[in-house]
Amino acid sequence: MRHDVTFPLYVEVDEIYNLACPASPVHYQFDPVQTIKTCVHGAINVLGLAKRTKARILQASTSEVYGDPAVHPQTEGYWGNVNPIGLRSCYDEGKRCAESLFFRYHRQYGVDIRVARIFNTYGPRMLPNDGRVVSNFIVQAIRDEPITIYGDGLQTRSFCYVDDLVSGLIALMSMDTPAPEPVNLGNPEERGMVDLAKLIIELAGSRSQLVYERIPADDPRQRKPDVARARQLIKWNPKVGIMDGLKKTIDYFKLIEINP
Ligand code: UDP
Ligand code: UDP
Repeated sequence: MRHDVTFPLYVEVDEIYNLACPASPVHYQFDPVQTIKTCVHGAINVLGLAKRTKARILQASTSEVYGDPAVHPQTEGYWGNVNPIGLRSCYDEGKRCAESLFFRYHRQYGVDIRVARIFNTYGPRMLPNDGRVVSNFIVQAIRDEPITIYGDGLQTRSFCYVDDLVSGLIALMSMDTPAPEPVNLGNPEERGMVDLAKLIIELAGSRSQLVYERIPADDPRQRKPDVARARQLIKWNPKVGIMDGLKKTIDYFKLIEINP
């Protein structure tokens, strides 16, 4: 069924994964008002649905709730450092409001919620025009085009391979005791963007050079999940390291570049 989550939905369900929302800064900033509606009206509708059907409901939240974090690595207890009126706020604050709604529906109506704070995820079947760093760098490397580093390239992210993330989401949904606390899901292996670019150039056998472009406003300086809670609650640990994950992703993009 194709449905816009900002409108009510009356169906009979027993599990809901609320993954609705663009996640790439380029895409969520394309129509910021719609991004806020997707996060907030979307959460209200799926929570209303969960409340009526007594379904279990999982929210795809984000490391962006920590904003440009002053605490490193980020634990779930950290409240974050978000610019409420900045370019990223449609997503950051939208997702924060959604978390607030999830916890309200849990406390007020006993809805069985699970909230995953997802850190940067990548892998095969990303779109070439997704706009996030891993797909940008890989597509540029395969085409031997300049690799676009925003700012000095010393900012960091921690990249989680898609299969690991999916197994984490399923484990969180499957857990029998409700989890009325958010859970970080991500790979704690932290990388700078210049390092990432060099790694991709090497793995793709590329002749690309680095070019430096302007850093977008409010770009977080560093990001790394503390995954102790996920380890303890759902016995989850990411298994795919960055080298293996990037190789699989590069193979995928080479395939679709040859057979678009
Ligand atoms: N809702 C929905 N499907 C349902 C139940 C509710 O889409 O099966 C939507 C509906 O638009 C409602 C919202 O979820 O406004 C919140 O539901 P809730 O029961 O909390 O609110 P109420 O209906 O009491 O305003
Ligand atoms: N970035 C970059 N070049 C690109 C795309 C992104 O240097 O072509 C940087 C961006 O400035 C940020 C990091 O890579 O510091 C991760 O950006 P992305 O959009 O993938 O995700 P974010 O974690 O910022 O939501």
